[in-house]
Amino acid sequence: MTARRTKMTKKLKLATVWLDGCSGCHMSLLDTDERLLDLLAHVDLVYSPLVDPKVFPEDVDIALVEGAVSSDEDLHKIRMVRSRSKTLVALGDCAVTSNVPGMRNPILVRDVLLRAYEENADGPRRGVIPTEQLPTLLPYVRPVHEIVTVDVFLPGCPPPADAIFATLLALVEGRQPEVAALSRFGK
Ligand code: SF4
Repeated sequence: MTARRTKMTKKLKLATVWLDGCSGCHMSLLDTDERLLDLLAHVDLVYSPLVDPKVFPEDVDIALVEGAVSSDEDLHKIRMVRSRSKTLVALGDCAVTSNVPGMRNPILVRDVLLRAYEENADGPRRGVIPTEQLPTLLPYVRPVHEIVTVDVFLPGCPPPADAIFATLLALVEGRQPEVAALSRFGK
């Protein structure tokens, strides 16, 4: 962490969000190891699968978004996150391109559900497709930028921990991250 940020007194608010992804991008964030502690000297982690708060707060400075937009719940969430965040980072290939979740796009949603709940299932509930208290799948999985404006695209599956840290450090210092030098698709 550089002296430039150290001179600033007010901590930035950092949030991390998990849409349709495998959590691998969050695991890579954790792989920043002790550097995460350095970072937390300069930011407050106000919302994340990694911490307790359940409500995404207003006035978030940096939001890292893992995963694609696959359901009505994802759609609602990403619009809310965008409206409450100054800088939104699409974290990883699923957020940037829809990647693995997007592999279902050539298939009808009904056929996807039949595959999961009938063809690949056994037992008494075989063939019963749940309809209550579950998000509704959208007809197509979308990358985040097709729904809301994205400020920083950080590709990788997952992006390496070094790339995530360098991106966060740049944003905390008020710089634009040099993403092309940090990570690439599928890496
Ligand atoms: Fe998982 Fe890769 Fe998608 Fe990240 S980009 S959520 S690691 S599949």
